Amino acid sequence: MKLLDGQIAIITGAASPRGLGKATAQLFADHGARVVILDLDAAQAEDTAADIGEGHIGLACDVTRKADCEAAVAVVLEAYGQIDILVNNAGITQPLKIMDITHEDYDAVLDVNLLGTLNMSQTVIPHMRERKTGKLINMSSVSAQRGGGIFGGPHYSAAKAGILGLTKAMARELAPDGIRSNAICPGFIATDITAGKLTPDMMDQILAGIPMGRAGEASDVAGCALFLASDLSAYVTGSELDVNGGSLI
Ligand code: NAD
Repeated sequence: MKLLDGQIAIITGAASPRGLGKATAQLFADHGARVVILDLDAAQAEDTAADIGEGHIGLACDVTRKADCEAAVAVVLEAYGQIDILVNNAGITQPLKIMDITHEDYDAVLDVNLLGTLNMSQTVIPHMRERKTGKLINMSSVSAQRGGGIFGGPHYSAAKAGILGLTKAMARELAPDGIRSNAICPGFIATDITAGKLTPDMMDQILAGIPMGRAGEASDVAGCALFLASDLSAYVTGSELDVNGGSLI
């Protein structure tokens, strides 16, 4: 018996080849789940679903658009009849200083990270409520906890801190419905979101702040998502799980 046998999982922003979403999708698939890859580009989402094995699906979905979320969830329910796990992973960042943030920048970052999490959660919650079971896993960041990182702007920190508030509020409200809601706070993880944006000096500075002395791997985050998605965490809700090599100690 595998940890996620018979479970249906939706993961947003999961088509980035080196991303946290794809690594999570692969691990969930390896542990018996059927996985739905959502991302902006349909072909990339379909290819990713094929990459992780048979029986998974990829769909285009811009999480900032509620209608896209509703359409994707309708397809999933038609295909599988149930949704057990939602990982709100889609995110973007911008390396801006406080005085350089325009309203357009603010809207772009808040919309994908925070509104996207609300949109997708609101879309699956009625179905999870009916079945009296469900797991919401929301990708926050160490940037929410320590007020930014090297390349995440203040609006990114604000969006990710908003995700922590939303996670806890949903955990409190939805616990009587059998739905758990938890956040993951990755530290510095080597993915496309960071690729090519750091000079060797910046990299040295980052590593000096990580007691474990290395950048995280996407698999480090995926393992924590698996824990939160499975019954191993049956009594865990409203938590923020740090995956940062000790950066906050
Ligand atoms: P990534 O850039 O590799 O992947 C993000 C994915 O989100 C991409 O595939 C992109 O197409 C998708 N996306 C962007 N806008 C979207 C939208 N409107 N609708 C649907 N999909 C959209 O990033 P990653 O490093 O894998 O990050 C995944 C999550 O983890 C993000 O929420 C990020 O903020 C968070 N995070 C990453 C790190 C890190 O160091 N990599 C640290 C902390 C938190």
